Amino acid sequence: MVKPEKVSKADRAKANYGVLRRTTFVMIFCGILLFVPLFRQLYVLMIKEHDQYETRAISNQTRSTPISADRGEIFDRNMNILAASKTVETVFIDPWEIHNAEEDVDFIAENLAKILGVDADMIREKAGKLDRRYEIISRKRDLEVADAVRQFITENELTGIHLEADSKRYYPALTTAAQVIGFTNAENRGAEGLESYYDDILQGTAGAVITTKGNYETQMLYSYEKYYQATNGYSLVLTIDTNVQLYLEKNLNAAIEKYGVKNGAFAIMMDVNSGAILGMAIEGSYDPNNYLEILDTGVLKELDEIKAQMAETEKGSEEYLTLADEYNKTEAAARLRQWRNRCVSDGYEPGSTFKTITLAAALDSGAADLNSAFYCAGQKDYPGRESTLHCWKEKGHGYETLAMALQNSCNIAFADIGMMIGGSNLYDYIDAFGLLERTGVDMSGEALGVFHSRKELSQNAQLTTVAFGQSIKPTPIQMVRAIAAVVNGGYVLQPYVVSEVLDENGNVVQKNGRTVVRQAISKETSQLMCKLIESVVTDGTAGNAKLPGYRIGGKTGTSEKLDVFDEHGNQTDDKIVSFVGIAPMDNPQYICLVALDTPTKKAAGGLISGGIMAAPVVRDIFSDTLLYLGVQPDYTNVDMATVNVQMPDVRDLSEEEAAKALREESLTYITVGSGEAVTGQIPDPGSLLPGNSEVILYMGEAVPTDLITVPNLKGKSPAQAASIIANSNLYLQTKGSNRYYAVVTDQDYEPGTQVPRGTTITVELTDNTALD
Ligand SMILES: [Zn+2]
Repeated sequence: MVKPEKVSKADRAKANYGVLRRTTFVMIFCGILLFVPLFRQLYVLMIKEHDQYETRAISNQTRSTPISADRGEIFDRNMNILAASKTVETVFIDPWEIHNAEEDVDFIAENLAKILGVDADMIREKAGKLDRRYEIISRKRDLEVADAVRQFITENELTGIHLEADSKRYYPALTTAAQVIGFTNAENRGAEGLESYYDDILQGTAGAVITTKGNYETQMLYSYEKYYQATNGYSLVLTIDTNVQLYLEKNLNAAIEKYGVKNGAFAIMMDVNSGAILGMAIEGSYDPNNYLEILDTGVLKELDEIKAQMAETEKGSEEYLTLADEYNKTEAAARLRQWRNRCVSDGYEPGSTFKTITLAAALDSGAADLNSAFYCAGQKDYPGRESTLHCWKEKGHGYETLAMALQNSCNIAFADIGMMIGGSNLYDYIDAFGLLERTGVDMSGEALGVFHSRKELSQNAQLTTVAFGQSIKPTPIQMVRAIAAVVNGGYVLQPYVVSEVLDENGNVVQKNGRTVVRQAISKETSQLMCKLIESVVTDGTAGNAKLPGYRIGGKTGTSEKLDVFDEHGNQTDDKIVSFVGIAPMDNPQYICLVALDTPTKKAAGGLISGGIMAAPVVRDIFSDTLLYLGVQPDYTNVDMATVNVQMPDVRDLSEEEAAKALREESLTYITVGSGEAVTGQIPDPGSLLPGNSEVILYMGEAVPTDLITVPNLKGKSPAQAASIIANSNLYLQTKGSNRYYAVVTDQDYEPGTQVPRGTTITVELTDNTALD
């Protein structure tokens, strides 16, 4: 992506000077509210205070009074506002003026303090600086407060209190995509996120009124004024879709809650063919409207504890100061952490999701093919490697084909594959996939990630470890674009988050799109990889990512955190679990990475893994977003019992008519009673129930209205759950793994709840053998 050509300030000023008259005309006759503050300022400077400014110019030689430019807005891809500015006013005093007019300083200080909610002593102190002409009392106040100040000035005929127009940034989406958007500081300059990366473009160029006089030597006193109108900033249209973003955040938060995730979570959803980022979520987040406020409840608790300790300590004592220092440091660190966009600024442990890269390199280089075979005994020694390599499955995977090695996520097979490729060769592929360089995404603070050198990778110890995804820390955005290249025909793209830059009239001045950096693997290798990656969901460790009607592919990952140590300096067993999902596999369009940093609650199987914890999150995100994004489900080869249908209203119909309506929804029925028409039905019209279900039609008989107690299905197998539900007058819908040995890990109605007859109970089935 090419950044727009920078127009120098001088050029802009030149251009603006020429259009000043026309613009003034437009401003006066349109009376557009937006321009009112600027117009008022110009009016004051040009006409009302001309004499005063001339006098000042003489005493000051040169005076430049800035005219602020309006900062551009930030929109999501559906033109929802994510960041905009509103007009506010800053209250300042002119101490020199107050003193000369012999105003009552105490009266001003007390009353202004009350109106503005500030300290009266602060005002007194500033009013005492007699050599100053401009002392800010309160910044960026809303119109109501400013009006109250104006009223106070007028009623008391006061001199020396002034208001000036200013602008304040606001973010209507609150915490949504906060780390992507960022925020501006008190001076209206971008401080974080896109506000910072695109600051020059958003900011525009401030105008000025410059008043000058000649030099003293000639003793020719003359003065002139020159006006440079402000050029408003450009606006940004993002590739981010707020709906997708909200679904990412919703599903991440559900997983954080479910698995007691300690260090937050993140997700990226990207278009695999263009590199456009549809959503980038980092939890816990913050509210850019109030960016100093800490939202992490854990940190808040910690701060409260320090504060409580401080209250019990003598003020000013050494202990007190130590505590105060600790408080400030904790608070500052928490702020930096909540602002940080770890999807681009930090490396993470990708674990076995990296095996997709190793396998693509093996197939593309010809080092391995579909006929390659492996044997995993659970452990293996390699020359040059000191420690024995263990597979995550202790008993071992036995004989495996290449496809099975990926499906099983077998560490031994992948160490073998690494040896077959060779360190230098693998290094070249890793380089080609862009894992040794920044992606160039248009976001601030992009990091490089951590990787081995070519020399290191040429040693077996490193090679056999890297091949299955350990001991490296790429950034999440690097991994997403590398795996996108694996499935999109081999193209390494430059990811981007701004699709268009607009001028103040909405004209497009810059457009971003697909930018191919290089091709890492052949189209043929990529197509083969798609088949293999899909088989991980249908036959491998990613069965929990299954979604009826869609062909989902993906790779699970579970990795120990590389640089987390306990108090004895030993590496902890903290883990980061992740899943990279792609949909739909017959024509890949979207890639979604989800990572959960340090889950603390173990899943039902007693273990922590990406296959159990992260794969279902990606499945739920795809379930929430694919149809919205226009990817139609294909139910032709799907068991309709796994898909919900809607119960039609068949009341007052004949049995024949009702039968036809039900058939269209893949439903069967039984009748109760012998009337001519349907008088009641279970379930109610509009209810969702699994396809192929049998419903009940009441032909003249009363519909029973008693409630049913929801049974406990947790821990049951699919067959057990089905038999419990079979005679209970309820329906059972399942999501997740379709393996016969999966177990129910969740149900939407808690056991013991009373529900109407014909209610559908949805359970989550988890394959607890998906341990990587
Ligand atoms: Zn194995």
